[in-house]
Amino acid sequence: MDLLHLTAAELGRKIKNREVSVAEAVKAVLAQAKEMEPEINSYVTLDEAGALMQAESVQKRIDSEELTGPLAGVPAAVKDNMCIEGQLTTCSSKILSNFRPTFTAEAVKNLQKAGAVIVGKTNMDEFAMGSTTETSYYGPTKNPHNLMHVPGGSSGGSCAAVAAQECWYALGSDTGGSIRQPSSFCGVVGLKPTYGTVSRYGLIAYGSSLDQIGPVAKDVTDCAAILEAIASHDEKDSTSVQRKDYDFTSALVCDVKGMKIGIPRDYMREGLDPEVADAIWKAAGVLKEQGAVIEEFDLSLVKYAIPAYYVIASAEASSNLERFDGVKYGYRTADYEGLHNMYKKTRSEGFGAEVKRRIMLGSFVLSSGYYDAYYLKALRTKALIKQAFDRAFESYDLILGPAAPTTAPELGKSLQDPLKMYLGDIYTISVNLAGLPGMSVPIGKDRKGLPVGMQLIGNSFQEKMLIRAAYTYECATGKQYEVPADIHPKSGREA
Ligand code: GLN
Repeated sequence: MDLLHLTAAELGRKIKNREVSVAEAVKAVLAQAKEMEPEINSYVTLDEAGALMQAESVQKRIDSEELTGPLAGVPAAVKDNMCIEGQLTTCSSKILSNFRPTFTAEAVKNLQKAGAVIVGKTNMDEFAMGSTTETSYYGPTKNPHNLMHVPGGSSGGSCAAVAAQECWYALGSDTGGSIRQPSSFCGVVGLKPTYGTVSRYGLIAYGSSLDQIGPVAKDVTDCAAILEAIASHDEKDSTSVQRKDYDFTSALVCDVKGMKIGIPRDYMREGLDPEVADAIWKAAGVLKEQGAVIEEFDLSLVKYAIPAYYVIASAEASSNLERFDGVKYGYRTADYEGLHNMYKKTRSEGFGAEVKRRIMLGSFVLSSGYYDAYYLKALRTKALIKQAFDRAFESYDLILGPAAPTTAPELGKSLQDPLKMYLGDIYTISVNLAGLPGMSVPIGKDRKGLPVGMQLIGNSFQEKMLIRAAYTYECATGKQYEVPADIHPKSGREA
């Protein structure tokens, strides 16, 4: 039986019905990963022995009917910035290249409670800073749809692993688009929840006021099921929210009749690749045919989002990354003279260029002479961006637009001009600044065969609205996930 082409929910059903054992599923995905990894490099760590051991214990819990949920026994991957007790957790940085945490992130624990088998930790931009997965200490991840292109970032490893069938689903994290943009580049579904929905306990912080963990999956059904499993109120995270609704799968309904969807005019103007724009208009047309009301409107202030984001995210990063000093954990330089020299050499050798750039920018905007001019101004801008969204959601149920201005760029191109790379975050970062939920759904391919995604943005706590619209799009157009052409011949693997 070809297991790899199944979605997580389909595989979960087969495991539940005893058509497939958990060990069979794990072996199939490990074999696929071993074949794909030399080319794609989705994983920092592939935990073969651990996955087989988990398979055994999860199978027992399924057999005793302790585990009955849709994800029980389904192999998954976790971005390498989420702690798992005893397992290497590197953030794709040299400075954490030997770090084995003594505890497990709450979101991962929730997955384990749902019966997930974690097969490995996925590659990412160092400390989640980047848009291409090229800043990883472990080398870049390649886009499974075209190995000459990046998978996006920073959750590029998670998205490439799902696209290349090296796991059935994955967790990513999104500070300024890091789930939605790589999902769009890799042709998979990714969701960034409302801030506070998924616990950040055990997620190594980048920009704490912006970071959220979320699912990456082959389709909307899986995405809803994963979110349902990982979302929880957690007292260990002071920003965790107690929500009224955690039943995200109840929104898997094919119906958008009367739903009001706004398309920001400023999202569809210059700077947007015409092929991406066409795909977005077509997708909007599909939702309109299904009964949604589509209108264009002005979402002002978008142009201030990039400077505000890079000031706030870098400020928080410079503070969060102070803890990596060679004393408490992680890498320490080999030779040094005295404590200060040890700090300096450890951090100089342990961090890569992009991370150093952010630490310097962050320290600068927080320094006493510039705090008001930059940091405070950015916080005020953030408040105005939230107000602009609040106004938009008085008229619309959802906002629709692109997830990124282009499809996946070629490897090696983006880092040549970091400022230009930052501009690529234009459609995603304001969603984090406002704490809103956003989702990327595959809607087609460009002429080169690279996937295009649309972004749906909801008001706070309106994930179900996103899921309903995305599911309706999927019902109307058929499943969007496609096995990348490059790996097609190998996709018929037997369990
Ligand atoms: N590209 C953005 C950055 O570099 C977003 C990254 C993220 O969401 N983690 O900060």
